Amino acid sequence: MVKVFVSGASGFIAQHVVKLLVSKGYKVIGSVRSIEKGEQLKKDLVDFEYEIVEDIAVPGAFDEALKKHTDVTVFLHTASPFHYNTTDVENDLLKPAIEGTKNALKSIQEYAPQVEKVVVTSSMAAVYSASGGDASSPPLTEESWNDITFEESKANARVGYLGSKALAEKAAWEFLKTKKPNFTMNTVNPTLVFGPQAFPTGLKETLNTSSEILNGILKAGTDESKVPARSGFYIDVRDVAKAHLHAFESDVTNFRYVVVGGPFCVQEAMDIINENIPSLKGKISVGEPGSGEEIMKNLVKVDNSKTRELLGDFISLEQSVIDSINQIISK
Ligand code: NDP
Repeated sequence: MVKVFVSGASGFIAQHVVKLLVSKGYKVIGSVRSIEKGEQLKKDLVDFEYEIVEDIAVPGAFDEALKKHTDVTVFLHTASPFHYNTTDVENDLLKPAIEGTKNALKSIQEYAPQVEKVVVTSSMAAVYSASGGDASSPPLTEESWNDITFEESKANARVGYLGSKALAEKAAWEFLKTKKPNFTMNTVNPTLVFGPQAFPTGLKETLNTSSEILNGILKAGTDESKVPARSGFYIDVRDVAKAHLHAFESDVTNFRYVVVGGPFCVQEAMDIINENIPSLKGKISVGEPGSGEEIMKNLVKVDNSKTRELLGDFISLEQSVIDSINQIISK
């Protein structure tokens, strides 16, 4: 039985990854930051073991966990801070993302040389050009890079998150090139991830950063000024989980899975909710129905045809939004 280590197992995306792994018969060891989170996952999943890794930024963070599980052959590194609640960008975002990734890879090389495959959860943040772009810019592909520097990343939490992911992914590829470990590597680079929580226990008052955008539409009620302003791209979390499995089950190596389902904007999400969920009629804003199309038309284009060829069709924005909202209102 293949044993898979998943860092940050209590995260929104990781819970779906772990759920899929368990359903396919993999043995899963997850790292979590507290006993409470580990025990909750043990309740939600039939078969799950965990190790405590309180802070991935601490040197040797994964050493003890990997020393214990000498039969792990696949390592999925999903743990990384995704929030904007800090003014200390360097310590709260950049360090855990970059050092956390290096620490994971270093521990694998030193204490788990039997590991054959590593998948790092990166982000479209590592793909977008730091200088922006619009519909007239060259399309973003699996080869595109955010060339932001460490210093530029310290500007504020939003820029810091983008930088943290770009620099962490660069550090991972650099490790592979210079340290020549036994394992091969792929990255999964999702854009904004929506979709239901893996387990109803994940439904908290405030959800993970990406899901909170949709939750924010509900929380704003009919007060349009409170509706979160956001546009970009979406992918459903169930497709992100599938990508993680493809990234180690297939023969693909040295590849960046750019998992982007299509364009997104909050107006479009409001239209989907208002058209499909009658119980919310009159309880959330309508904005300017249909006007989202123009916003989405002006976004930079993404050509992720190489990724799509490997993974097939993605869940639609409509389905992703409907499933997310239906789960939230079922609480
Ligand atoms: P979550 O916040 O739900 O998950 C992040 C996970 O990382 C949590 O388990 C968290 O633990 C853990 N973590 C964060 N910082 C540390 C640390 N210093 N030490 C140990 N563990 C830590 O977010 P997502 O599931 O959305 O994100 C998972 C991954 O996917 C991240 O790498 C993120 O950058 C990436 N991603 C997410 C996107 C999205 O839209 N959701 C888009 C693109 C990429 P705890 O909760 O206990 O703090």
